[in-house]
Amino acid sequence: MSEIIVAGSINMDIVNHVDQFALPGQTIQGKLTEFFPGGKGANQAVAAAKSGASVRMIGAVGRDPFGEELISSLRQAGVSTDQVVKKEGASGMAFITVNAQGENEIILSQGANGKLTASDIPDLSAYSHVHAVLLQNEIPWPVTRHVILEARRHRIPVIFNPAPAMPVSDDDLALIDTLVLNETEAECIAGESAEPPEKAARFFIGRGVREVLLTLGERGCFYANRDGDEIAVSAYPVQAVDTTAAGDTFIGAFAAARAEGMPVREGLRFASAAAALSVIRRGAQASIPAKAEILRFMN
Ligand code: ADP
Repeated sequence: MSEIIVAGSINMDIVNHVDQFALPGQTIQGKLTEFFPGGKGANQAVAAAKSGASVRMIGAVGRDPFGEELISSLRQAGVSTDQVVKKEGASGMAFITVNAQGENEIILSQGANGKLTASDIPDLSAYSHVHAVLLQNEIPWPVTRHVILEARRHRIPVIFNPAPAMPVSDDDLALIDTLVLNETEAECIAGESAEPPEKAARFFIGRGVREVLLTLGERGCFYANRDGDEIAVSAYPVQAVDTTAAGDTFIGAFAAARAEGMPVREGLRFASAAAALSVIRRGAQASIPAKAEILRFMN
């Protein structure tokens, strides 16, 4: 079975549905409040597991009631949580507002994710057989960088999603096998427009990334690698109700597809289908589809 390690954030998403976003100083009425297990790391872990991979999560939750709920949600999706540590204080939380158009605004409270240190990371020599280590940017960067270096030391391919956006040095880009990012993140790192995607992709390949995957929302995605292959795949036309975790679903599904040996173009279509199914449902992990459903949707 294909195996993936995800090192990243675990959050409780507290979602408020509104007609329109509040303006500065304004108080508005929420139409519905919901609690969903989320966090980019946990979402991507769940997406990869539901797409058929065997997934182990490295991360931290707080010693609060959310902590137990977050671990049990990961386990329910089939993710191994033996490397999830518990920290004093609150779990990570994301306060998400979704408007009538299905757009979202997010405030992130790091909680336990911010307390993760390199000493919480297991020795990856025991996992040198895994197909990939998948990372994002919601745990402290020194910890992420430590995992990237450990993975490279044990020749485990590194998939990095620099989200939320942050600048990444050229030296660090050269450590990445597969960089997956949306246009905001691409512009933040490249320091220039991510249009056209071909140009942005070539920027990252020029910095030593082995392959890059730009996600373009409802326009689909664009893939390029060091061998000069370039592949554009359209998004599936669907009526979006909540785009929370579209990118996470896409990345987890793509990582699982590649780990099981699916060719790149097919993996991109599989990931696009998974993400399309996630945007027609509310919530983060709750909206992530399973492999059988993704394959049915594609055919
Ligand atoms: P992020 O959530 O990180 O901003 P994107 O918005 O680029 O990521 O979305 C990731 C992928 O999800 C896209 O490449 C696309 O395949 C799919 N997707 C996103 N929004 C839609 C949509 N409105 N309809 C269909 N697919 C979508």
